[in-house]
Amino acid sequence: VNMEKKPHVLVFPFPAQGHMISLLDLTHALASHGLSVTVLTTPRNQSLLSPLLQRASSEGLRIQPLIIPLPPTEGLPLGCENMAQLPYHLIPLFMDSFKELAHPIEDWFQQQKQSSDYGFGPPVCIISDLVLGWTQNTAAKLGIPRIVYHPSGAFAVSVIYSLWKYLPHEEVSSDNDTVHIPEVPHPVSFPKYQISRLARAYKRSDPVSEFMRCSMNLNVKSWGTIINTFYDLEALYIDHVQGVSGRPVWSVGPLLPPALFEAKQRRTMIERGKPTSIDDSVCLQWLESRKEKSVIYICFGSQACLSNKQIEEIATGLEASEESFIWVIRDPPSSMPADEYGVIPQGFEDRMKRRGLIIRGWAPQLLILSHPSVGGFLTHCGWNSTLESITLGIPLITWPMNADQYINALLLVDYLKVGVRLCEGATTVPSRDDLRIAVKRLLGREGEEMRRIEELRRAAKRAVQEGGSSYKNVEDCVSEIKKLIVQLN
Ligand code: UDP
Repeated sequence: VNMEKKPHVLVFPFPAQGHMISLLDLTHALASHGLSVTVLTTPRNQSLLSPLLQRASSEGLRIQPLIIPLPPTEGLPLGCENMAQLPYHLIPLFMDSFKELAHPIEDWFQQQKQSSDYGFGPPVCIISDLVLGWTQNTAAKLGIPRIVYHPSGAFAVSVIYSLWKYLPHEEVSSDNDTVHIPEVPHPVSFPKYQISRLARAYKRSDPVSEFMRCSMNLNVKSWGTIINTFYDLEALYIDHVQGVSGRPVWSVGPLLPPALFEAKQRRTMIERGKPTSIDDSVCLQWLESRKEKSVIYICFGSQACLSNKQIEEIATGLEASEESFIWVIRDPPSSMPADEYGVIPQGFEDRMKRRGLIIRGWAPQLLILSHPSVGGFLTHCGWNSTLESITLGIPLITWPMNADQYINALLLVDYLKVGVRLCEGATTVPSRDDLRIAVKRLLGREGEEMRRIEELRRAAKRAVQEGGSSYKNVEDCVSEIKKLIVQLN
């Protein structure tokens, strides 16, 4: 490891699959551009850092882990340190519990000040996830700036900023009434139920709403903003966020494993997040046996869990479509009734043996999406899945269920025109006919028309290559951070 003194930053990801993975990819990029980085997490999430740390050590990059235990919080299952283990209603309490790390961070900072010349020294800046708004105060106390990291797209960030600025929108009463979002570049509105999933914007007295409000108000005061998107995808919204925040906005995406930008077809594993539940070679062999762009891939990310009724409709629609598919089905977390979720209709698997592959648990999503046999992706529109699909040139069927996914779906279908809409909402049961038609449309001629996603694929690749917009933004962000070392000393 190179012992030369490099400006040091503290990176603090929020431990939820969709938030953490891209910030770890950014950590690698920052270290490659000449920073030393400490990544803060809790003991049970330590293993999630392993691939990054291994890669860093083999490439001679200065990245070290900082592991601080999270004290138990009343109301949360003991030992819970990752959002994937929690039902939806406990997530805000979980987010809030991280404030307990403020003092340990301050103590660590003081220790770093006394550390030897060969240590990392105290960080000059904190880069932390948007739900860790309180780190803005911690940074201020330590006399260093904080950069907020948004793992979502710039359209989503624009909507969130607007929502929190113009709270509480109480004039809207029924769940399906629409809420107009002022100030974003296109006039846009969403049903109230979707907005309340995004920001809990309706109950001023609600502790969750208060938590989000505090976080957002601190985020807009941050020294800079990093967004996992790229200029050719969301220029309008990136410029908008820049205008609203009045501070630098660096779009640095798509943050993805570099291997993804290389060959279109790969035979090696590209892991994202967790070990997969299926052998790579089994999955590849299955894909090899299919025609080009003939398979629909179905996966709803790391959080969503489907009810038996939803599964039944998908299964029936798929069967009627007569198309090939890979379908990832998550088991429900222990807090949900095991007999009401995740059960596949009897006989379905047997009947579909020849044209369907069902993966229970965690799928090698990048491996699948980068295979030429895949022609479409039925997704919940999580931002990582969205970027992966775009970067690999796969058109989408959208079924947003939560948080920013509704905004992402709108972007994909109405603005970028690279997706077809299936339905919306976590508990919605799509009709089997709608599903069959959507699959047919995507794998048929309409999918062809959506091949304009190819342009976006090329643009994504350009953005992260040397000289591309996102590459330059990483360079610019690093050079601003390097100036801090002089200012702070
Ligand atoms: N993912 C995966 N295998 C799975 C499910 C998800 O590799 O079976 C990865 C997927 O490639 C993506 C991430 O997990 O990178 C999910 O993030 P996203 O933002 O799409 O959704 P979230 O999990 O936050 O709802």
